[in-house]
Amino acid sequence: MKFKSIKGTRDILPPESRQWQYAEQIIRSRMALFNYREIRTPVFEETALFARGIGELTDIVSKEMYTFTDRSDTSLTLKPEMTASVIRAYLQHNLGEQQPLTRLFYIAPMFRQERPQAGRLRQFHQFGAEAIGGRSAAIDADVIALATEIYRSFGILNPALRINSVGCHLCRPAYKKLLREFLEQVRDGLSPESQRRIELNPLRILDSKDDNDNRLTASAPLIKDHLCTECREHFAELQESLALAQVPFLVDGRIVRGLDYYTRTAFEITSSDLGSQDALAGGGRYDLLAEELGGKPTPAVGFAAGIERLLMVLNQQKHDFPEEPGPSVFIACADADGRRFAARAVMELRRSGISAETDYFSRSLKAQMREADRQQAVVATVIGATEIADNRCTLKVMKTGETRQTALDSLAGGLKLILSRP
Ligand code: AMP
Repeated sequence: MKFKSIKGTRDILPPESRQWQYAEQIIRSRMALFNYREIRTPVFEETALFARGIGELTDIVSKEMYTFTDRSDTSLTLKPEMTASVIRAYLQHNLGEQQPLTRLFYIAPMFRQERPQAGRLRQFHQFGAEAIGGRSAAIDADVIALATEIYRSFGILNPALRINSVGCHLCRPAYKKLLREFLEQVRDGLSPESQRRIELNPLRILDSKDDNDNRLTASAPLIKDHLCTECREHFAELQESLALAQVPFLVDGRIVRGLDYYTRTAFEITSSDLGSQDALAGGGRYDLLAEELGGKPTPAVGFAAGIERLLMVLNQQKHDFPEEPGPSVFIACADADGRRFAARAVMELRRSGISAETDYFSRSLKAQMREADRQQAVVATVIGATEIADNRCTLKVMKTGETRQTALDSLAGGLKLILSRP
């Protein structure tokens, strides 16, 4: 075979695709319960949108984007995340004019050229939500509750929610100065990556994956202890709202978002079932992003979650996924008359809402019944010249072997009767 899928991408085949449909259906139903409506944006956007909206300094923009120039020399990028696209669409279509709080959700593929490893793909899928237009911490709590409720409704046993506040443009500069002073003292022991970040993005050093970095920064000042009054009140209100919503959480001062337009709330949901790539979802408030993208000041908060990660946890926890149902009826053909009958009948049955299947390989009756069994048909029936002449056939429930006679000219009615029995 000459062609293979690209490294870091996956085919989602049956029966696994059934797990995806099931997961997406539950996600959609929870989004609806929380009054979020779906947004779908193009797979590619102008590169500059992501450079601005995610930040030149991030790993995503500096080394992971799938960027190409099209035939008119425009630089385009396959979307590596959704928030920038959602805010772009919100601003472009003036969604804020229609309502004070715009609540949107998405389920979509994302593209990042990461080093492929367990749990890290180059095309992966996220679901997420954005609540745009309000500053109240009650909205942050609502978004966080939505994320945790989705995991809860899958019966995920042990997701951990950790929250923090990363302050705002008023309190962060003074804190950054304090943090840099601390980091300068341990500079020589830090990983090269973290040393580079002291100037550019010191907050990110606090969530370094390097154990040595973490040891050296164990007593670093944390921003949650250096918030301005408004940010402190916002963080307290968030915790109160989460408690009222009965959402358990831990405060973790090392959860950060490195970029300036992220404000106040930052959170992560992790699962101990995922190993080193343990992040299920992450999110936070980004009150300054709309301005960064050239829009008017628009506070917003949201989260993004990996679907592959969700399914990994569900499979690890031996989740009871619903099985792909087989056809309701398999019509086996005894002869040429039977085949003509089946060709018409399967279509009529399907049009009346009954999934029907027949044989396309002129197989023996025995082989056709084996096929009905393999496909897990609920009911099988054999039709030939005799059944047609008598206007009767026998419906056989495959699981129990139980049979029932029905008139051929009311096959759909007979089937509905037998299929509706528990
Ligand atoms: P992020 O947009 O980086 O905050 O990621 C949000 C969530 O998307 C993570 O918590 C993961 O569940 C998932 N995710 C991010 N990157 C990948 C990837 N390369 N492969 C699979 N899932 C990912």
